[in-house]
Amino acid sequence: MRKGEKNRRLGILGGGPSGLSMGLFLKDDYEIVERSDHVGGHASSFSAGGYTFDHGPHIMFSKNQPVLDFMIRSLGDNVMRCRRNNKISFKGKLIRYPFENDLSALDLEDNFRCTWDYFNNPYKEKYRKPRNLEQWLLAAFGKGICEAYLFPYNRKVWNLPVDRLSMLWADRIPRPPAEIILRSAIGCKTEGYLHQLYYHYPRRGGYQAISEAFAQKTRPVHFRYEIKSVRRLPGGQWEISDGKAPMRFDELVSTIPLPELVKVARFPIPDRVRQAVRGLLVNPMYIVSLGIRGDDAEKMTAVYFPEEEFLVNRISYPATFSADNAPPGHYSIQAEITCRARSAVWRMSDQEVLAHVIAGLEKRNLVRREAVVLTDVRRSPYSYVVYDEHYEKNVGIVRNWFPRQGIHLVGRFSYFEYINVDGVIERARDIAGRINGSPVQL
Ligand SMILES: Cc1cc2nc3c(=O)[nH]c(=O)nc-3n(C[C@H](O)[C@H](O)[C@H](O)COP(=O)(O)OP(=O)(O)OC[C@H]3O[C@@H](n4cnc5c(N)ncnc54)[C@H](O)[C@@H]3O)c2cc1C
Repeated sequence: MRKGEKNRRLGILGGGPSGLSMGLFLKDDYEIVERSDHVGGHASSFSAGGYTFDHGPHIMFSKNQPVLDFMIRSLGDNVMRCRRNNKISFKGKLIRYPFENDLSALDLEDNFRCTWDYFNNPYKEKYRKPRNLEQWLLAAFGKGICEAYLFPYNRKVWNLPVDRLSMLWADRIPRPPAEIILRSAIGCKTEGYLHQLYYHYPRRGGYQAISEAFAQKTRPVHFRYEIKSVRRLPGGQWEISDGKAPMRFDELVSTIPLPELVKVARFPIPDRVRQAVRGLLVNPMYIVSLGIRGDDAEKMTAVYFPEEEFLVNRISYPATFSADNAPPGHYSIQAEITCRARSAVWRMSDQEVLAHVIAGLEKRNLVRREAVVLTDVRRSPYSYVVYDEHYEKNVGIVRNWFPRQGIHLVGRFSYFEYINVDGVIERARDIAGRINGSPVQL
C-alpha cells in the first residue's frame, strides 16, 4: 500500500480469472461483483447429461514457469499432467500439429513445395522488416507452408485478410529452425513447441476448478450482480449499481469487456476514447458440445481445420483432458467456430450450426451421427481479440485514459489483449503490484 493511502476501497468488476487474481494480490480492501452465479467467466465450465464442458476448451500451459507453478499449486492434488496429441485436418488426412513438423505426412508434391519454398525463400530478404503478419509468415516459413496451412487457418480464425493482421501476433509464433524443417520433410520425428507439449488440467470440475480454488482465498464474491451503471460521485468516489444495491469505491478494477463498461458508464468519456473502443475488434464464437457414446481409442487433444468450406476452426476432446469430463463408456467433442459479429455466419440458427458441425465431422470420419447422445450450442459474443492494423493505436488510447480516471483495466477483454489465464495472472500481478506500491510474490 502507498503511504497515506490506508483504507482505500477497490471495486473489482467481474469474477473471472482476472477479477479473482486481483482479489488474491491486492493489499487494499476490495469487493468482487459478478453478473453470473459462478466464478471463472470464460474459463468456467458447465455440466450436462453427466458430461463436463468448459465454455470453449481450456487447458493449462505457459512459457512463464512461476505462473504455471502458481496455477498448478492452487489446485492441490486436483490436477493432472497430460501430453498433447494435436492434429491438423489436411486434404482428407490427419497430420501432426504443428504443420511444419509433419511435412513427410503430406502428399509428395505438397511436401516438396513446402520444403523447397522454405529453403529457397526470397521473402526472407524482401521482408527483412515485415510490416504485417502476412509478410512475417512468408519470411519465416516460405510461401509453400503459408499457402497450404498458415494463411487459410489464420484467415479463418481472425476473419480478416492476413495482411491486415498486426505484427504483434508474430511474437507468439516460434520460427521453425532449418534442421526441424529438413527432419520433418524426410520423416525424422520432431516435436513442436515444447512449452505446449505437456499441459495440465484439473482432474475434477473442469477448468473452472482453478477459479474455484482462487475464490476459496478471496473475499466472497457478490454473485448475480450485473453492473448496470458506473458513475462518479462529486467527492471523486465511484458508485456502481445493479439497479438495486449501489456500492461505493475509491477506485475500480474493471475486468468486464471494455465495450460493456462503456455501455454502463454514466460519466463523460471523450469521443476519441469512445471511437478507440469502437475500433477494437473482437470475434464472437459458437461453441458446439457433443456427448458421444463409445470409446475414443485415439485420445486426440485437438484437431485444427484450415479448410474454408468447413466453418469449424478447431475441435477438442474434453474427455482426453480428464476422463472425469464424460460418463464411463463415453467421450466428448467441442467444436469452435469464430466469425465476425454482424456476419451471415453469426446469424445462423443453433440447428443450422449443429447440422453443419455434425455433417463436417462425419465427412472427415471424426464422428458417427448415431453415436451422438448429447448436443449443446452456445454463443460467446467475446472470444478472440483481433490484432488488426489499428489495434495498437486504439488500445494505446484506451489504456492511457481509463487508469487516469481511477479505473484500472485488467483482463482479456478489458486491457484488451489476446491472453490466456497465465497471461491474465501475469497482468493482474503487475497491476496489483503497482496499486499496492510493492511487487507481488506468487
Ligand atoms: C474459446 C476460448 C478458449 C480458450 N482457451 C484457453 C486455454 O486453453 N487456456 C487458457 O489459459 N485460456 C484460454 N482462454 C482464455 C481465457 O478464457 C481468458 O484468458 C480468461 O477467461 C480471461 O479472464 P478475465 O477474467 O479477464 O475475463 P472473463 O473470463 O471474461 O471474466 C469477466 C467476468 O466479468 C463478468 N461480467 C461481464 N459483464 C458484467 C457486468 N455487466 N456485471 C458484472 N459482471 C460482468 C463475466 O460474467 C465474467 O465472469 C480461452 C478463451 C476462449 C474464449
